Amino acid sequence: MKLLKLFLTMTGLISFSACAGSASEEYPGVHVLQYHHVSATTPAVTSITPDQFEQHLRYLKEHDFNVVAIEQAAEWIDAGATIPRKTVVITFDDGYDNVLENAHPKLKEYGFPYAVFVNPDLLEAHPSAYMSWQQLKTIDAEGATIVNHGQTHDHLIRRNENESEAQWQARMKQDVVSAQQAIDAQLGEQPKYFAYPYGEYSPALEKLLEDWGFKGFAQHSGAWSQWSPATAIPRFPASGRYANLETLSVKLNSLPMAVTHYTPADPLVSHSETRPTVTVELSKAEGMNTNALRCFAGSDVLEPHWDSEMQFSVTPKSDIPIGRSRINCTAPSTSGGYHWFSVALIRPDSQGTWPD
Ligand SMILES: [Zn+2]
Repeated sequence: MKLLKLFLTMTGLISFSACAGSASEEYPGVHVLQYHHVSATTPAVTSITPDQFEQHLRYLKEHDFNVVAIEQAAEWIDAGATIPRKTVVITFDDGYDNVLENAHPKLKEYGFPYAVFVNPDLLEAHPSAYMSWQQLKTIDAEGATIVNHGQTHDHLIRRNENESEAQWQARMKQDVVSAQQAIDAQLGEQPKYFAYPYGEYSPALEKLLEDWGFKGFAQHSGAWSQWSPATAIPRFPASGRYANLETLSVKLNSLPMAVTHYTPADPLVSHSETRPTVTVELSKAEGMNTNALRCFAGSDVLEPHWDSEMQFSVTPKSDIPIGRSRINCTAPSTSGGYHWFSVALIRPDSQGTWPD
């Protein structure tokens, strides 16, 4: 299994060595794509059709992207190593059976490794919807990495009524650590990578993941870089309305921003915080046209206020919606393309809840 992944990684690497550019050396990053269903008959919002999926793979191949295993990307980022430009990691959340039917054969054909975040409780309870352990073993042996999406796919940051901090922590341990034990028992020890269900995280949950030795993958966009918190790693959603190759290609060619600190660090704002101000601190801005930095909240374009040379803030012009949303900020790179940074927000309704 390990040898095959190494081989897939190396075959992906053949094409990059001659073309390292200075912008990607200055701002090394990995573009992590996030998919769910690969099917024409599942809910459109979380699906990409098999045809569209193949278009994505063809685009990656034709434009010399280096699709590497998630462990390889993590190793480079943890080591502060040089990351080949145009490096991509492909991920699927939930482990639906249509990934086996419609994505796995194509990925194998293209020689692209990928990762699947699975829910052990769910896959055992609903064998008709999800890949079985046996099927996961098969794809693991053929280039996939099987990683952790929690036992239950709950909204983990929501507290139960009258739940104490200790009770919540015990529930989180049951959801995250026992899922890892189930995965390891079936597949041998796997890397401790956790994808937050719905992309929902909080500083309290991040702290637990850190204590338990996990990396945390979220669903706000941007390249994974040395500046990404290890427990809030961004990914680019690539299905539903994000499947469009024209917009996806802009993201695939984006660079990270060197963000050292931002607020709100907790995506969950209160119901009454209708227009939360986002503040972003940079450690460097070389090669970035900061005058042209703009942020986007829904369809509103927000001009930043520069608090200092390296810190800006933006405030939404309209109320952010109930539920999950993001404020994305981009600035043109002097060498082409955009630097990209995204902040996740969750605004509950007056009852403290929000839609799936
Ligand atoms: Zn999921």
